[in-house]
This record gives sequence, structure tokens and C-alpha cells, in this order.
Amino acid sequence: EQMEWGRPTVAAIDLEAIRENVRNTARLTGPDTGVIAVVKADGYGHGAARVAEAALEAGAMMLAVATPDEAVELREAGLEADILLLGASPVPFARIAAEQDIIITADSPAWMEAVAAAAPDFVRPLRVHLKVDTGMGRLGVRSGEDLLRMYRVARAAKISVDGIFTHFATADEPDNEVWRMQASGFREAVELLPERPRLVHASNSAATFMHPECRFDAVRLGISMYGIAPSGFVRERLPFPLRPAITLSTELVHVKRLGRGDTVSYGATYRAQGDEWVGTLPIGYADGLLRGLGAQDVLIGGRRCPIVGRICMDQCMVRLPHEMAPGEPVVLLGKQGNEQVSPDEWAERLGTIPYEVVVTLSKRIPRVYL
Ligand code: PLP
Repeated sequence: EQMEWGRPTVAAIDLEAIRENVRNTARLTGPDTGVIAVVKADGYGHGAARVAEAALEAGAMMLAVATPDEAVELREAGLEADILLLGASPVPFARIAAEQDIIITADSPAWMEAVAAAAPDFVRPLRVHLKVDTGMGRLGVRSGEDLLRMYRVARAAKISVDGIFTHFATADEPDNEVWRMQASGFREAVELLPERPRLVHASNSAATFMHPECRFDAVRLGISMYGIAPSGFVRERLPFPLRPAITLSTELVHVKRLGRGDTVSYGATYRAQGDEWVGTLPIGYADGLLRGLGAQDVLIGGRRCPIVGRICMDQCMVRLPHEMAPGEPVVLLGKQGNEQVSPDEWAERLGTIPYEVVVTLSKRIPRVYL
């Protein structure tokens, strides 16, 4: 009903695209490797709970998030699947994690000791995955000694060591020394443990596609689940076509004719060269249509039309090929007719990566699900 009186700017999420990307990945990795659906940052801007449900329907074995709140939100949304918190957990969160059966990341012996000290009071045994830093320089232990200390402290406290993992820094680039060092360092770390945990995992989307030998028991599928390639290098080498899930669309809310020399938007940086039709879109940088996207094309009537003048907080203007009526559908990301604008195209214009494009689409844009 809000569709009738609300702003026409919406992000439509095609859940079947998400399911298809998960199914194709599961087929590729085979029956011995599970898919962990990474739904951090509100499902990369697509909506964590709905994406999580779709991924699980398509066969994902587990969900992964970045922060304690994200994990708790999934539980509150009624999801009962295993959830792995990839980021650092504040020690007091361990109690909540045990209560809600959220698997948390053990990233140092000191953290493990602090959690072990509190563990006798937990209502249920806590599950952890041990994080090994093999070259990302982010979370995790960097020596076998620290890894074993973490492991022994956990076991002594009856904390279940359910998994061990690492994260690659360069899997989205051509085969390289950093990646090979990380992969061999991780194998050595796993060998050190007296008992192999249930889940050994290392690969993000890029490694899943580029390095089949490193898939272990599960892969952590993020960006590709949303139908976006991790990098240009991987995009050229995908084992199956990724199906983009997001379509960002709006409508023309106003159309006017400008004459030669008339200006558009702040700074009057755009001047009409002659008679021109210009339309106004109800979307701006507060929505994640960042100012750096000036001159980006949008799709109207199946054609590319450029944004003209500076993007405002809530609106922007586009040059139309001819007069059009307010209400005309506009696609900013996605397909219209034979044309398509991808998050990669925005990323290139912004000098960033498509991950940043989708997570930057603000909460103000309603997500609708197909
Ligand atoms: N694993 C960890 C630890 C991550 O931080 C991320 C996301 O950056 C992923 C997996 C998923 O990576 P991608 O979105 O490249 O598949």
C-alpha cells in the first residue's frame, strides 16, 4: 500500500537469483563442501533475513555475519540455522552466543582465556571457530603456539572447537605468492590441531572459483551470492554466469524543457546546449546515489540517459531523449529492455569496488522481494 503513496524509489531483490547463485555454487563445490551464506552488512544491502532464508532454501549449510547485533537480528527474525560471527566478539557476548547457539570467532589466546573464565555459567556449551591469520593481518593468531594455546584453553573449558578458518587477501587476483603462502600456512595450522574440527574453511567467493583445492569443508560465499563478481579478474573466469539480484528503480517525478544556457543543480555546473528535456528523479546521495556518480547513465524507455548536474541529497536530474511524462519508469541498477547498468559500472565510476556500491544503498530505500 505504501507503494501507492510512497516515493517510487525501491530496490527489488530477486530471491530466485540468490537461490540460483547458491545452487550453482553448491553444484560446483560438490557434496563434500558446504556453502556458508555470508549475509553481513544487511545481506550486502539486500536484506539479511530474506537473503538468509533464500540461501538456506537453496541448500546453504550455515549463515555468517560480521557483528553480534547482526547475529542476534537473524535469531530475532526466526532463523534457526547455524550462524557464524566472523568478526571479533566482545567477551560478554559469549554468554549470549551460547544462549542463542551463535558460533563465535576465537581470535587470540587472551580472548579465549577470558571467555573460558566465564564459560562455567553458560546455559549451553559455546561453539567457536578458531581464526588463523595467514596474511590478512586482521583477526586471528599468527603462530602455531598461539593456535594450540587457544585450542587447549577451549577444550579445558568444554568450549566446542567446531571449526578453524582463515581469510585470503588476494584470491581475486591472478595466482600469486601471497595467496600460495596463505594457503600453505593454513594447511599447516590445521595439521597442528590434535583433532580436526568439524568445519575447516578458507575460501571467499573469489577463492571458491579460482582455487578449487582450497574449498575444504565449506566455502564462505558473499558477493557472488548476490550475483556480483568479486573482481574484474574473476568476472572473466567465472565457472557459471552469476545472476544479479538487485534492481534499483524509480520514476520520473517531474519533466521540464530547458533552453540554451539554462543551468541544472548546485553550482550550475550543467548548461543546456540547446532545447533539452530534463527529468527529475527522487533519489540522491542520501540514498547511496553518491555525488561521484555525476554523469552516470540511468535507463529510461530502454535507453541510456545521463545524469546531468550535481547529484543532490534526495534528487537528481537526467537528460531525456525527448519529452516524457512523470511516472515514466527509470532503472538505476539492473536491466531495462536490452540495456543494463551493473554495480560494477558504478564502482568503476566511483573508483571503488561493487561491494561498496551495494552496501552503501541506504535504509531509506525500501527493499521489495520478488
Ligand atoms: N569471509 C570473511 C571472513 C569475510 O570477511 C568475507 C567478506 O568480506 C567473506 C568471507 C565473503 O567474501 P566475498 O564477499 O568476497 O565472497
